[in-house]
Amino acid sequence: MNAPDPVAANPMPHVMSTYARLPLALSHGQGCRVWDTRGRRYLDALAGIAVSTLGHNHPRLVPALQDQIARIIHCSNYYEVPLQEQLAARLCELSGLESVFFCSTGLEANEAAIKLARKFGHQKGIQRPEIIVCEKAFHGRSIATLSATANPKIQEGFGPLVEGFVRVPLNDVAAAESVARSNPNVVAVFLETIQGEGGINPARIETLQGLRALCDRQDWLLMLDEVQCGIGRTGKWFAHQWAGIVPDVMPLAKGLGSGVPIGAVAAGPRAARLFQPGNHGTTFGGNPLAMRAGVQTLAIMTEDRLLENAAARGAQLRSAFEAAFGGLPGVKDIRGGGLMIGIELDRPCGALLQRAADAGLLLSVTADSVIRLLPPLILDAAEADEIVTALVPLVKAFLAEPRP
Ligand SMILES: *Cc1c(COP(=O)(O)O)cnc(C)c1O
Repeated sequence: MNAPDPVAANPMPHVMSTYARLPLALSHGQGCRVWDTRGRRYLDALAGIAVSTLGHNHPRLVPALQDQIARIIHCSNYYEVPLQEQLAARLCELSGLESVFFCSTGLEANEAAIKLARKFGHQKGIQRPEIIVCEKAFHGRSIATLSATANPKIQEGFGPLVEGFVRVPLNDVAAAESVARSNPNVVAVFLETIQGEGGINPARIETLQGLRALCDRQDWLLMLDEVQCGIGRTGKWFAHQWAGIVPDVMPLAKGLGSGVPIGAVAAGPRAARLFQPGNHGTTFGGNPLAMRAGVQTLAIMTEDRLLENAAARGAQLRSAFEAAFGGLPGVKDIRGGGLMIGIELDRPCGALLQRAADAGLLLSVTADSVIRLLPPLILDAAEADEIVTALVPLVKAFLAEPRP
């Protein structure tokens, strides 16, 4: 036998190995389907982690982007960018918030939120502002956002962490109230409306309402990270709208550009005017290509009633999974909202990634034991059925195996 070919063993030797990747490369897509370079076809129930809102090669997104690329891709924030105002006005209309800062990723949106909270505190005369964050939270991988994140695997090896975060359990308003009594430096509560990486853990409606009331009483900012759960995914524009509340600060990213990198942080009256020229900035954020992608994504979502579709397809998947898995030992819970669904097993299930791909289905596993589905919001009823038909036997066979 010859020595193993190092390139075959690692087809990406020059790329830093930050991901455990499946051995497949996608070459193109159409709607909710993608094809790999070997010509195999998959149903995309991951959408690039809640990014490809409109699926792939959307007939009204692609021409708009082509048109924009031919006009102007990038210009500096030294100039006015009318598309920024257009997208910001639409996001404000949909959210009830007042102003928006644009960046290029989710962690940048969260960095901006953290900076807003600190500036808010300093304006109130609090020299060392602190922010309440949640257990199992994920807010990104920059030094500040990984400090706000709760996963020790993400923090390990990167200390010292940024200070100024106080952690409470998710859905424990009493714990946040007790911090309010003991810590005069708190200026904000920061959480994902539905935790994504932490295992699809929704903040309950009463939690969101309770935190809204607490923040009002304390004059704190309620900051809801909707990077993953926002932009129509749960069947409302923003997941917190199910609770009938409005946050003070809302970071967005993933699905907003339907694949073009984009981030945004939207702010209400208490935070909309905290940043002044010189306080914050970005080279790429708000560039005309990303803005056009955002404007067009939201327009198509509205025209094609994709919120209603997300709710309907989500309900279809939920009831099919409940019927298939209800009472099955090994399936602990089915959670989420709309097309953000987590199926928690009683054991680590990363092995399902490859098996699902072999069966023509792309999905994700998060928090070790939670199967995560985040399909494009254009998913149709037949495609939803296909997800169920592919996934249910895989899970049943997996659970029937002796544990390793
Ligand atoms: C993905 C994610 C982020 C980080 O976004 P990046 O674009 O990867 O920086 C932050 N918060 C939540 C809730 C996310 O799901």
